[in-house]
Amino acid sequence: MEFIETRGNEEGRPHQVQFSEAILNPNASFGGLYVPKYLPKLDLEKLQGLDYKELAFQILREFNIDISDKTLQEAISLYDKFDNPNEPVPLVDVGDGLYISELYHGPTRAFKDMALQPFGKVLSSLAVERDEKYLILVATSGDTGPATLETFKNRPNIKVVCLYPYGGTSDVQRLQMVTEDGENLKVIGIRGSFDDAQTTLKTLLRSEDFRKELEERNIKLSAANSVNFGRIIFQTIYHIYSYLQLVQRGEIELGEEVYITVPSGNFGNALGGFYAKQMGLPIAKIFIASNENNILTDFITTGKYSLIGRKVVNTKSPAMDILKSSNVERVLFALFGAERTKELMEELENRQEYQLTQEELEKLQNHFSAVYSTDSECIEEIRNYFQKGYLMDTHTATNIKAHRELREKPLKNIAYSTAEWTKFSPSILEALEGISGVSDREALEKISKLANIPIPHQIQSLFEKEIAQKIVVPVPEIEKEILDFI
Ligand SMILES: *Cc1c(COP(=O)(O)O)cnc(C)c1O
Repeated sequence: MEFIETRGNEEGRPHQVQFSEAILNPNASFGGLYVPKYLPKLDLEKLQGLDYKELAFQILREFNIDISDKTLQEAISLYDKFDNPNEPVPLVDVGDGLYISELYHGPTRAFKDMALQPFGKVLSSLAVERDEKYLILVATSGDTGPATLETFKNRPNIKVVCLYPYGGTSDVQRLQMVTEDGENLKVIGIRGSFDDAQTTLKTLLRSEDFRKELEERNIKLSAANSVNFGRIIFQTIYHIYSYLQLVQRGEIELGEEVYITVPSGNFGNALGGFYAKQMGLPIAKIFIASNENNILTDFITTGKYSLIGRKVVNTKSPAMDILKSSNVERVLFALFGAERTKELMEELENRQEYQLTQEELEKLQNHFSAVYSTDSECIEEIRNYFQKGYLMDTHTATNIKAHRELREKPLKNIAYSTAEWTKFSPSILEALEGISGVSDREALEKISKLANIPIPHQIQSLFEKEIAQKIVVPVPEIEKEILDFI
């Protein structure tokens, strides 16, 4: 399988690359992204009845990527670290045709582990095979950071620097990062938003000077954000798996259409669903759920993607507090081609907005519809569902309004739960008891008693660990911090 570029090909660069190259060096021509040249077609009949790991292996082999069976098997075996290795992605029927696919049962309690656990293994193996050293720069809104640090901790030939918006994550998320003590890891709090962190990262990835500094040290740059296709490929699997679960349980016939609903930020999860749909998974439509940073809702309903007059709003679902949603670009490419994608992305960079034509908008709306929820709507849904016996986090709660408002046909709906309640416990406690201003630790204990569920050991242990990473700096000092580390 070859990979091509969303903004077309720049003179002097390869016209296409293999998977290994696309994930080790994810920056494509003109600042674009790598995408597969074509997508495999699924034979759902054949995939029925496989467990998660078997299914993952089959699908990855369908992509025909240049990674050995052995490395893939080792990568996939990391799902054994999940709560239940036989069922890493439980699907829960919460009534009214809504099924919650829980993607958070990995080591850092958020869905980023689904892709990053195997991805870390694949990337490190490639680096070792090639006898090369890589630096991974991560900008995180709270969940990518912990999951990236966790997957690369003490892995050979990889160093990680993780940028997070100081004050823009939950206590638990911050502790997950600052207690990481692997020799190859560095965590930097920045005084700014997630978008600031991501913009800095993108600038560094393109900076010749920075590159030279690294070259002198014999280090290459890679990335573990969902701009890296190595993450996206693992995010096609659970969409297919959850669908086949519904078939296996007799809730739907094989081939019957469903909706899927995705709480979205950088659009990696939704893109995985979109690719699964292109591969033949019977998805009638993908519902994009957002919080008050509703740029995706506006885009999908009007065709206008506009940053003008917008600032990131801090919400109770901080992993979705994003305005520049990177993976939308891959959808633009799939629907409108490279030339148009380049034009649109340049408009966004130069004029801060772009507008699809009516015809383009209709194409987009064949696949997606969207709605956003306010914090208070999420809080109310968390309370409602808890009374019905299901505990969900604030990100997951954005699915509920989408479920109620976006269905046009009485189809089953698979909605993704992207984080465990433990990561955002003060907001959950507010929903359940009306108490606010409580620390993460106190909230965890209160909810644990109230709901009669234990705090998982991965979270409990954070409060006893030593803080290993203490740096917080303004944006202009980031580069220096990184160079000092390497
Ligand atoms: C990352 C994240 C999201 C957004 O996922 P994208 O793939 O970036 O759209 C939603 N919820 C949680 C809890 C996350 O960690």
